[in-house]
Amino acid sequence: MKKVALVFVLTVFVPSLVLAWLAVRSLRDQQFVLERQQSLLYQGVADSVAREAANLIADHQREFARQVEALLANDKPIEIAGSFDERLRKDWPLAEVGFAVSLDGTCYAPSQLFGSSEAHRFLLDNERFLTSRESVEVYWDSPKSSINLQQAGEKNQKPASGEGSNAPASPATPDSYLSSPPGHAKEQKLARNVEPQQTQSRTSKQAWSKASVSEAEFRQLVGASTEGTVARFLQNKLNVMFWYRSPRDPQIVFGALVNLPRLVEGLSDLVKVEPESLRDEICVALLDDSARVVTKTHPGFQTNWKRPFVATEIGEVLPHWEVAVYLVNPARLTRSAQTLKVTLGLLIGVLVLAIGVGGWLIVLDLKRQLTLARQKTDFVSNVSHELKTPLTSIRMFSELLADGRVSDKEKQRSYFNIITAETARLTRLINNVLDFSRLERGEKKYNIAKCDLLGVVRETVGTYRPHLEAGGFKLECDLPASPLFVNGDRDALAQIVVNLLSNAEKYSGERKEARVEVRRQSQPLAHVEVRVLDRGLGVPKGCEEKIFEQFYRAHDSLSSGIQGSGLGLTLARQIARAHGGDVTYEPREGGGSCFVLRLPASPNSTTNEH
Ligand code: ADP
Repeated sequence: MKKVALVFVLTVFVPSLVLAWLAVRSLRDQQFVLERQQSLLYQGVADSVAREAANLIADHQREFARQVEALLANDKPIEIAGSFDERLRKDWPLAEVGFAVSLDGTCYAPSQLFGSSEAHRFLLDNERFLTSRESVEVYWDSPKSSINLQQAGEKNQKPASGEGSNAPASPATPDSYLSSPPGHAKEQKLARNVEPQQTQSRTSKQAWSKASVSEAEFRQLVGASTEGTVARFLQNKLNVMFWYRSPRDPQIVFGALVNLPRLVEGLSDLVKVEPESLRDEICVALLDDSARVVTKTHPGFQTNWKRPFVATEIGEVLPHWEVAVYLVNPARLTRSAQTLKVTLGLLIGVLVLAIGVGGWLIVLDLKRQLTLARQKTDFVSNVSHELKTPLTSIRMFSELLADGRVSDKEKQRSYFNIITAETARLTRLINNVLDFSRLERGEKKYNIAKCDLLGVVRETVGTYRPHLEAGGFKLECDLPASPLFVNGDRDALAQIVVNLLSNAEKYSGERKEARVEVRRQSQPLAHVEVRVLDRGLGVPKGCEEKIFEQFYRAHDSLSSGIQGSGLGLTLARQIARAHGGDVTYEPREGGGSCFVLRLPASPNSTTNEH
């Protein structure tokens, strides 16, 4: 049994506990997994809005190039350059200032003398940069560029001596991006990603700005490209410039300072929640470089705008501008993670419990099977012994009689009686074994008919009495006068009475007294009761029900010296139950046992109650 328990612990219990532990551990990651799924979904929304915004800006840039080409259609570039500012603003509302510079450092437009106040401001801020007389910190993008940012950086480190520039690369100007207040726009951006709205899952893309800043002269930015954009921060204000140079005169670069409010107006229309089904879950907002909301999809919605759930930057043209996604109801995510956790937790609990209970039932069954196997072995040796004892005495007495060595008539009769009693005992044992195997195989047939149970008891007791009295027993009977009818098989019912009487004899101990009572009871239903009582050993406590199990013996042969097969009561109960009744045990008052056979009374039996 210990081995079985060890195998059970090693093969079922320990693996189930390990599995349960692993499952519980994975539960703790549920919230993270859920947030990750959500962030991937919402990241898609932010990415698509950011993509559309970038596309719109690219469209504007192309539109600018078309405007320049349209202006150059009739005149030479050099002729247009001087009046480019006025002409561009007239035709293209997105332009705040138009500029034209030559790569060798001449500024044609806007005009210092006739330009607007914006033009004057623009020249003050940008003339030195556009004429390549100073390097500044810029975010730049040149789709048709043949140089890259790194090259530009390298060029900055080796100032343009070989490229005809007379302006040495200077450190960032006081109003350049890094040294001006918007400089902490970049730091804010990082801070926002470090302290997200929720326990936000960050992608490397989000962790660092994708717009990179570089110090360069305008001529270096232009390089071999025909068009591009340049963004820089001046006095906290973002300046976005488009530039283009025509193949007609690649020496002259035409450009425009973009009117930011108008550009943003166009972008605002793109900020939406797509797919529409996510509208209840998220708010999409366009944030400027200082993380201020420019536009949002849910007008009344307020939150800490610096902590988006996910965000995507638009690109170099609008450095540090983001499309940010916020959870409308952040508690909902935690709630669904919690619900998922509880559900899975319960499921795991139920499964582990099922494994535990299943395993325990298997162990119980195994234990039962082992006990049964042991009992069967005991049964074989018990039955062999029970067969051997009467056979020995039958053989001994019959040999004595056959040899004619006993001449005394009295002795002869007594020997014959012993032989008869032992034969009856053998018959009883064999009947029990045969009946048991028939019952086991479901082959036992009963000849059910209305019969007088009192008559059956009287007959059986009559047959058994001489044997009992010969053994020194005092047998009392308390039987009613009138018959008590039941529906049953006479022989089978007689077998129950014989088994109970035989047990009373076997387990009688010192006080050889037995008593048989028969009476009719009307509560709870009309039934007939046969009680077989003795003043013997009684059934040990805790074995009151077990004694009815097959092969079970409360007094085993070794310790008690009483032979038995452990089948008598099993058969008695099975027969009684097949008749709709039962056999039960109760301790007898004053010591000893009391076995009660109860059978339903036949409907038209005599009512003779005691
Ligand atoms: P057995 O052949 O062992 O008597 P039974 O099925 O008739 O088998 O009885 C099962 C067990 O019930 C016995 O081994 C004994 O321990 C207990 N038992 C039966 N009858 C009595 C009784 N009258 N007094 C005490 N114990 C009894």
